[in-house]
Amino acid sequence: MKIGFIGLGIMGKPMAKNLLKNGYDLTVYDLVPAAVEEVAACGAKAAACIREAAEGMDVLMTMLPNSPQVKEVMLGAEGAAQWLQPGSVLIDMSSINPVASREIAAALAEKGVEMLDAPVSGGEPKAIDGTLAFMVGGKEAIFEAHKPLLKCMGASVTRVGEIGAGNVAKLCNQVVVAVNIAAVSEALMLGQKCGVSPEAVYQAIRGGLAGSTVMDAKAPMMLSGNFAPGFRIDLHIKDLNNVLDAAKSVDAPTPLASQVMEMMKILHHDGEGSSDHSALLKFYEKLAGEEVRA
Ligand code: NAD
Repeated sequence: MKIGFIGLGIMGKPMAKNLLKNGYDLTVYDLVPAAVEEVAACGAKAAACIREAAEGMDVLMTMLPNSPQVKEVMLGAEGAAQWLQPGSVLIDMSSINPVASREIAAALAEKGVEMLDAPVSGGEPKAIDGTLAFMVGGKEAIFEAHKPLLKCMGASVTRVGEIGAGNVAKLCNQVVVAVNIAAVSEALMLGQKCGVSPEAVYQAIRGGLAGSTVMDAKAPMMLSGNFAPGFRIDLHIKDLNNVLDAAKSVDAPTPLASQVMEMMKILHHDGEGSSDHSALLKFYEKLAGEEVRA
């Protein structure tokens, strides 16, 4: 099986390396030549353009920032759609608007090319370990045929429904994560303001109903003032924008996502766009006029 892979950023690079470790024949492309060289040094073939990463491939995988980039790479003037052969499959692992996934799938279908939307949860550490969680939309038979490929990069690979369903699940995931981080920030500040150590509050509640994977990943970062990404505020704003767009199109209520989106936008304008999303705590610190620390 010949695989093309476009998008070698924080996530794409380790994911591509895990495919190589499993012996797949991989050709990689990114706008950043150094990223291509790094993955080529691990055994991939280097492509100099989209065409070289797409032409003659059985599967093309993409791991790009957002809908405009995936549309450009697939359907733009130099786009991969024109180089993919009938019977080949696009697996887009980027987190994008589900409406865009369906548009791209419809354009590819006209050329006999299938598509799965397969966004992930887990971040860079799980991309490196190959333990990401994949949420997949697309035809069941195409999903089953390509599950082993995704299993090289993920511990959990779940089909959610037809095309676009993977990105709907990812948007749901991003609402829960964003609101959870805001709640943890609010709680730690409340504890400190009431004169109780926020570290003690965290240790006391993490094993109970309030505990969560998000709390265990983010509270230690907050308590040590370490906001190195991780998952950047700007990427979460991108996801919440997609949440609000999708919600508007189906008239779904999203008061909490809207609120956290406003907090993240303020942080972006304060220069925190490249900080980890645990830096939501800084919004509370600004309101309270003091820092939360262990
Ligand atoms: P990133 O910005 O680090 O990487 C994106 C890569 O795409 C970059 O290397 C960029 O050069 C490349 N690129 C952009 N436009 C291109 C084009 N036209 N042609 C070729 N290459 C192009 O982003 P990331 O953190 O790797 O995230 C990728 C996707 O995964 C996003 O949708 C993000 O929301 C999602 N995601 C990220 C994380 C995380 O923790 N970083 C976790 C889960 C999901």
